[in-house]
Amino acid sequence: MTERSLGFDTRKVRAGYDPAEHNYAISPPIYQTTAYDFKDVEYAQKLFAFEVAGNLYTRVGNPTVAVFEQRMAELDGAAGAIALGSGMAAISYTLLNLAEDGGRILSSPYLYGGSIDSFKKLYPKFGVHIDYAEHIHDPEKLDKEIRPDTKTIFIESISNPSASLLDLRAIADVAHRHGIPLVVDNTVATPYLLRPIEHGADLVVYSATKGLSGHGNIIAGLVLESGAFDWGTEKFPHFAEKHYTLRDHATGEYRSYLEVFPDAPFTTRIRFHYLNYFGAALGPFDAYLALIGIETLSERIAKQVSTAGKIAAWLDSRKDYVEWVRHPSLPDSPYHALAEKYFPNGAGGILAFGFKGDEAQRERFLNAVELLNYHVNIGDARTLIVDSPNNTHGELEPSEKDRADVPENLIRISAGLEDPQDLIDDLNRAFAASEDSGGPRDKS
Ligand SMILES: *Cc1c(COP(=O)(O)O)cnc(C)c1O
Repeated sequence: MTERSLGFDTRKVRAGYDPAEHNYAISPPIYQTTAYDFKDVEYAQKLFAFEVAGNLYTRVGNPTVAVFEQRMAELDGAAGAIALGSGMAAISYTLLNLAEDGGRILSSPYLYGGSIDSFKKLYPKFGVHIDYAEHIHDPEKLDKEIRPDTKTIFIESISNPSASLLDLRAIADVAHRHGIPLVVDNTVATPYLLRPIEHGADLVVYSATKGLSGHGNIIAGLVLESGAFDWGTEKFPHFAEKHYTLRDHATGEYRSYLEVFPDAPFTTRIRFHYLNYFGAALGPFDAYLALIGIETLSERIAKQVSTAGKIAAWLDSRKDYVEWVRHPSLPDSPYHALAEKYFPNGAGGILAFGFKGDEAQRERFLNAVELLNYHVNIGDARTLIVDSPNNTHGELEPSEKDRADVPENLIRISAGLEDPQDLIDDLNRAFAASEDSGGPRDKS
């Protein structure tokens, strides 16, 4: 029986790891080493010629990190995976590996603040221009937004912070009609809620810092590839470029990533170009913590989805303090139909609401929250609350916040694993504490 035929929950605790290869240790060992002994000259030569699989140097590969990569590949149904030092490294290496010789990226407007800010400050300097899609919800019009030098479409499957959803299959079809790949940032969903490759995505990126590892104790990222995309076209000439370092040691002939790594050329090229030379490597201890986190992925995310739904419904009933609530579980959510189509296990553990009141009241509310932690992270075991426009999306200018649909009174909650009633009680108390000291405020 192959790993792939096993259920998701079995794979999340076992895939990519065979105790017989690690002194029969049940828990994956932490290989805290910089380098690996070559045994002899012949073995070293074979390693460098990619004739045998093995380890050279922990910047480009480590056995603990490899278990994490293999486990994620099997959870997402990917042909290749590479773990990196952060989610931002995963996004930047992916987009540069697509558009390093210049060109355009067509992006969803609903993104993590760090992505948006890097698109403005960094990419244009490298000759890569970002176009924000005006019709991300309308495939026919989206099709017309693709230009001759557009290299990819980039989206978040569940957006941070507003939990907006997109029609993945329709967007993948648009990309494929133009011979370009769809990249999905699947951080908020995790493979438990959504496996983008099953819906046509070619590349999946993660911040494993968030719900994937789930305990707010590491910074990590990943890139996965479907194995189905044709990288041999003129849009992506660098995959067919021949390199001395990939030469056939018997004949001396230079070879390309497509020739040497036909099954996973994209992530392999990230490994030996971007990871090798830009260097955002994931340490083995952090990979170990990610693996331990993934062992309880389904159980944690299922509870967080359920708690987020309860908090969203409660907030929705508190129109005295709440202008609007965004979570796909709400019956009047514009994303209700997409949630039913793509998210049978629920559409995520983050929700957002518009605080009703002025800035001073909002500040008093946030200061009064005790159980919910006020800080920037999501997917933690603890429930987190944050005023995104001032921090996670604080880099954005007002017009950029409008485009990203992050109103100034938005408050984001990332549901943790506590008793939901305790969280609701805490919010309830903080709402009361937000009142003007002079008595109840106008709630009309
Ligand atoms: C946090 C986050 C990132 C960045 O990940 P880091 O691990 O903090 O670098 C990227 N995308 C999304 C959706 C995120 O929430």
